Amino acid sequence: MRCAHCGWPNDEAKVLSTHHTSEGWVRYRRCMCGQVSIELITLDEQAETHAQPVSAG
Ligand SMILES: [Zn+2]
Repeated sequence: MRCAHCGWPNDEAKVLSTHHTSEGWVRYRRCMCGQVSIELITLDEQAETHAQPVSAG
């Protein structure tokens, strides 16, 4: 996934925090541009990763 704001790979973004939910793991990342994104890491066999931009407050 890439940052929706600047296009920088989110893999390079700093991890703010990770929370376990009933759907899997939610990981908050802050890009170098300041954009915060949320990754949803499910524990399914396919282990899909979804990320969506959120307003950075
Ligand atoms: Zn960015």
